Amino acid sequence: MTAFLVDMDGVLYHGDRLLPGAREFHRHVAVGRHLFITNNPTLPPEEVAVKLRGLGFLGVEPEQILTSAQATAEWLAQTKPGFRYFAVGADGLQQALATVGRVDCVNADFVVVGEGAGLDYGTLTTGINLILSQGARLVATNPDTTVDTVRDGQRVVLPGGGALVASFEAATARRAVIIGKPQPLLYRMAMDRLGVTAVDCIMVGDRPDTDIAGAAALGIRTALVRTGRFTPGESWPDGIARPDWDCESLSELTDALCRDGVVMK
Ligand SMILES: [Mg+2]
Repeated sequence: MTAFLVDMDGVLYHGDRLLPGAREFHRHVAVGRHLFITNNPTLPPEEVAVKLRGLGFLGVEPEQILTSAQATAEWLAQTKPGFRYFAVGADGLQQALATVGRVDCVNADFVVVGEGAGLDYGTLTTGINLILSQGARLVATNPDTTVDTVRDGQRVVLPGGGALVASFEAATARRAVIIGKPQPLLYRMAMDRLGVTAVDCIMVGDRPDTDIAGAAALGIRTALVRTGRFTPGESWPDGIARPDWDCESLSELTDALCRDGVVMK
């Protein structure tokens, strides 16, 4: 049976607005193996689950969510058990790291940068000195340069993890290890959690450069919905494999998946 890896923002909702066909799509995929995966490290999975249930996605539990913050914590724990870290980022990242490592602003093994508040002159100074003087490795939860959101009905662009980590890279001349899409780690952890391999999976996302490109590189089938960053009528970007399904909405994708016998009507 097909397993679904589903991006959330721009796929199921945009900001706090439910996208067309999202609940029906969820009813179809929820009968089988599925995981919601996101490059957004700012919220802990418990809060993401509350948000999803609040939008009408019934029965969603935190175990069905994998954030780039969780994947980062898991990768760090595998790379160096009991690691020490200095992290710049929101609660979702801080909570994920605290379960497997310990904060150390003097002898950190890793400087971890994620989205959200936390970056300022002081934290940048601490981070770059840990890298330059202590040999700490620079790690970023996700490479997105910007994040689209909606505030009070207005579209707002927020700086993404890629933009925040760039200042650490510039100051240290080191490249960060990147965990989120399109890098393979988040997808691999998602497949491990579901107990499936790439041929069993379909990745559903709204961004060709991250969701689709990263999944295709691992041999995962891909479905694009043009309800987020990428819009109907936009021409496909050069150098990225075309998705197996290219739809204007989740309603259209659900119909296509039913027609192709991937999910039951
Ligand atoms: Mg998205």
